[in-house]
Amino acid sequence: MSSPGMISGTAVAPGLAMGPVYVVRATPDVVPSWSLRAEEVEGEIARLHEAIAAVTGALEARRRRVAEQTNEQDAEIFAVHRTILEDPNALDRVVQAIRDDRLNAEVCVQRLIEHLEQVMGGLDGDSALRYGADVSEPWCAVLEELSSSERRGVMAREERVVLAAADLTPHVVTYLDRERVLAILTETGGRFSHGGVLARSLGFPCVAAVPNLMSRLEKGMRVIVDGDRGTVQLGPDEGAVDQFLERRRRHVARREALAVHAALPSHTSDGRPFALQTNVEGLRDVETFDVGHTDGVGLFRTEFLYMERSEFPSEEEQYRVYRRLLELLEGRPVTVRTLDIGGDKRLPYFDTPDEPNPQLGWRGLRIALQWADLLRVQLRAALRASAHGDLRLLLPMVSSLDEVRETKRIFEGVRDQLTDQGYEIAEDVPVGIMVEVPSVLFVLPEILEEVDFVSVGTNDMVQYLLAADRDNPWVAHLYDPYHPAVLRALQEVAEASRRAGKPCSVCGEMAGDYATALVLLGLGYSGVSMAPNFVGEVKYALRQVTLADARELARQALREESAVGVRALLEEARRRLHDSLTGEETSTS
Ligand code: PEP
Ligand code: MG
Repeated sequence: MSSPGMISGTAVAPGLAMGPVYVVRATPDVVPSWSLRAEEVEGEIARLHEAIAAVTGALEARRRRVAEQTNEQDAEIFAVHRTILEDPNALDRVVQAIRDDRLNAEVCVQRLIEHLEQVMGGLDGDSALRYGADVSEPWCAVLEELSSSERRGVMAREERVVLAAADLTPHVVTYLDRERVLAILTETGGRFSHGGVLARSLGFPCVAAVPNLMSRLEKGMRVIVDGDRGTVQLGPDEGAVDQFLERRRRHVARREALAVHAALPSHTSDGRPFALQTNVEGLRDVETFDVGHTDGVGLFRTEFLYMERSEFPSEEEQYRVYRRLLELLEGRPVTVRTLDIGGDKRLPYFDTPDEPNPQLGWRGLRIALQWADLLRVQLRAALRASAHGDLRLLLPMVSSLDEVRETKRIFEGVRDQLTDQGYEIAEDVPVGIMVEVPSVLFVLPEILEEVDFVSVGTNDMVQYLLAADRDNPWVAHLYDPYHPAVLRALQEVAEASRRAGKPCSVCGEMAGDYATALVLLGLGYSGVSMAPNFVGEVKYALRQVTLADARELARQALREESAVGVRALLEEARRRLHDSLTGEETSTS
């Protein structure tokens, strides 16, 4: 039963958490905007003054440094910038806007910048233009200072928080150190948004698409997040807190029961092996799980290595990361996916266009082939690391045989170059593709002649197959991994791989659901790769069934005509497996 403070959204990542909420105001490049209550106005003006003082101090320090290192004349510009910030008219304009419109300082400073640029743009001549840029520049620095001071404030405190934001982006999920985050809440987004994928991977309970979330939250308000049911309890009373504590106790008991199975080999009860691998986004992820419980890394989303920096990582830096990952995995395979940016994964330092339809746009391998030097650097790093373990390469967003051939040509070129330069590299570095774009389903036999394995990226494949953006809450009801078309496409991939004698796996989020994983086994997949949190559960399920059981489940699933039927079938399978573990209530997924 729901209570007045209870709101619902989409269950993105499982788990329960309780704590104070911290609102992440914006994504990079977007000026954050929020309304102020009357009693917050003076505090906001004080925050503006602090930011101006910080920028003034920094300008003076730069003036002195440049004067010492070059000459007084070059340093003069910083003194001019300081004077601009001291202009009482400009300051009044911002303060007045904060008071009258009750808006945060960032928005009011942004309006001033636009005003200054408009005024200067109206003047004629190059020098006026230059002056226009100069006049707004120190205010841009104030804007930046305001945004980062917000963040520094929360960074400085020790408490753990529930992060809340408008959009479910990777930026929001990685806003604070992992240890500081209890859960994630967002107003938009869905289970398969990249932010959602990341939240699952980091083990944060996450609820997205919560209507009017931002207007219902207050700073520091205590909330209970239920990532299994997709609910948020605002300001819970004593009874709700007791219930939360009881449910969390059961969750912990279940996790402990699963942990007993986690170290056992990954095979069915009749001994059929099925690789259970882990998806990682960086080296830090490996610290959160026991490598002895996994059969390797089935997907290393290397774009996060690129996203956490202020410039492209060098060959050397990437080499060190890949090599370290191979060492940490102690001989188990590590599948390095080449850079998969675009869509909702953007690099702050790489100016990609604002596309009308980014999911159908400049993404993944398309960027890598156009910016082939980027790809070459990454391939050089990966191939050099291959001397230290079992490294495999995985290509994202492939849509044609030509792309595969072109990438392989680049790959061979890099390998020859490294060999000529005397680097030691593994004799065999398998190359595989992600099956994500539906066109690949129809040319898979030809592509399989060129590659060593395939891995289905169901997060993307579902969105492209069903024409339902994985990030768009308006079509979230249409984005359905249990649509019979998805199961049939998965069957096609398994069949084509079997005919070609090449292994196939799934590394999208479907792989982390234990009932679905059994269907994949039944369809003929050789393994799955998932966020570390789910390995225990999937391994437990796998060890309870025979290969014949899994095949029968797959047969039944394929016979269903609608997602409703598939869902009911898998729900039943889940219940049987779950009850045999703890006898607890089953959470739906
Ligand atoms: C996928 O699309 O299923 C996948 C694993 O890749 P990503 O989620 O990073 O797009
Ligand atoms: Mg993908």
